Amino acid sequence: MRIIFVTGGVISGLGKGITTSSIGFLLKSRGLDVTAIKIDPYINIDAGTMNPYQHGEVFVLDDGGEVDQDLGNYERFLNINLTKDHNITTGKVYSAVISAERNGKFLGETVQIIPHITNEIKKRILEIAKKHDITLVEVGGTVGDIESMPFLEAIRQIKNEYPDKVLFVHTTYIPKLNVVGEQKTKPTQHSVRELRAAGIQPDIIIARGSEWLEDKTKRKISLYSNVKKNSIISAPDVNTIYEIPLIFEKQKLTEYILKKLKINGKKNDLLEKLKILVNNIKNSNRELNIGIVGKYTKLKDAYISHNEAFAHVSAKTGIKINEMFIESEKLENKNLDLLNNLNGIIIPGGFGSRGIEGKINAIKYARENKIPILGVCLGFQLMVIEYARNVLGLKANSTEFEKRTKNPVIDLLPEQIGINNLGGTMRLGSKKILIKKGTNAFKIYKKKIIFERHRHRYEVNPKYISKLENAGLIFSATDEERKRMEILELKNQFFIGSQFHPEFKSKLMNPSKLHLALVLSSIKLKDS
Ligand code: GLN
Repeated sequence: MRIIFVTGGVISGLGKGITTSSIGFLLKSRGLDVTAIKIDPYINIDAGTMNPYQHGEVFVLDDGGEVDQDLGNYERFLNINLTKDHNITTGKVYSAVISAERNGKFLGETVQIIPHITNEIKKRILEIAKKHDITLVEVGGTVGDIESMPFLEAIRQIKNEYPDKVLFVHTTYIPKLNVVGEQKTKPTQHSVRELRAAGIQPDIIIARGSEWLEDKTKRKISLYSNVKKNSIISAPDVNTIYEIPLIFEKQKLTEYILKKLKINGKKNDLLEKLKILVNNIKNSNRELNIGIVGKYTKLKDAYISHNEAFAHVSAKTGIKINEMFIESEKLENKNLDLLNNLNGIIIPGGFGSRGIEGKINAIKYARENKIPILGVCLGFQLMVIEYARNVLGLKANSTEFEKRTKNPVIDLLPEQIGINNLGGTMRLGSKKILIKKGTNAFKIYKKKIIFERHRHRYEVNPKYISKLENAGLIFSATDEERKRMEILELKNQFFIGSQFHPEFKSKLMNPSKLHLALVLSSIKLKDS
């Protein structure tokens, strides 16, 4: 058991998750069994009830956990599948301690942050860490935040209990005031001081900035922080996040960590594989435009799993994918010029009625002009509505948007009726899916049984299935009981929708099959 804690200073949004994932990747490339935990100091039990504008996309795990998007990064880099226990929040910790108190578990004690809350945090981390060679623990937020105090105290105690098995990595930001200006270390000095006030001395500093650190800058950080110069690592801006492990490796970070933690590793071929994939991303010779028609287009992180799925496809194929974010509300007046230069379209998941008519217009345009299109979850449901309206001529809608619609082609899942509690109550996580032979879906997956991740309350209304099928819409995959529609498609064009989210299982080393198929069929049409 070894634990590497990753904290952040100066500002948020430094890419701590990428740093954590990259370190994990490097240790995996030495044959070690690596896992990762994210600590989120917010009071929410999980990310499920959060608006993407607050905290980026909600990521979904196999076990149905609705978690912070950083767990997506860990899974994508490390090619592993995590569980909800790998996302520790203040909400989960306090609710466990409070319910233990109500059950009389503390036998008359006064229940306090130290030791009861900190013990609960330590227990949760150690339970996982004991099962792996290396556990990376990323502490969300910025050092100095009130919310993260109990977590810092808990990790300080873990170090005290296992002095040789714990390493602290601190990520900071080195600003440069203008092009010719100096790299400024003062914010880093302050944040290390803050960390040391919490009793934590960093072993490694990872410095984000637009450029590589100058020697002078490293010397200065080292002087003020008591961190050796050779363990102050540059994390300059890069073209693709998958390049970061290579940048760290170049600075001998892996060797340093192995030595510090007194653990042996044996190199495998992962780094060589990564070099090839990164090269494919950076040196693509063909390119195409994929439109993402959604409502959270102002925030890059809202569709991060789709962005990453496309990066994985680029890495595999060497095709550059220009993602064009298109605000669906702008398509509502049928002014579809925004779709003109697209080679392919994706309609991602979503909730609520804002922008849905624009998405339906985009689907109609793609269907009629045979532009390859992939609809995911809400996108899948809107494809059904579009078909029902424009091919079957029905006044159709989803009851999510219009309670009393004449033709509820999309309706609440039966088990969702009467659920008022919104946290963690959707149809969530990995489910078995049966694909019908002879369909496009079967050609793409080359399998009869697949498992994919879900997050929805509504489904295709069974009463309309045969009507839709008679009009040419093909439901090419269902759930195990053949009751729930999982994939839809049309003959002779790439028009595919999935009730599940293929983007959540996409890995750098194993891209989403549906995203790959969308790109391949878009480039084929473009080149033809
Ligand atoms: N709002 C839809 C539902 O609940 C789609 C959800 C989604 O796209 N994740 O079924």
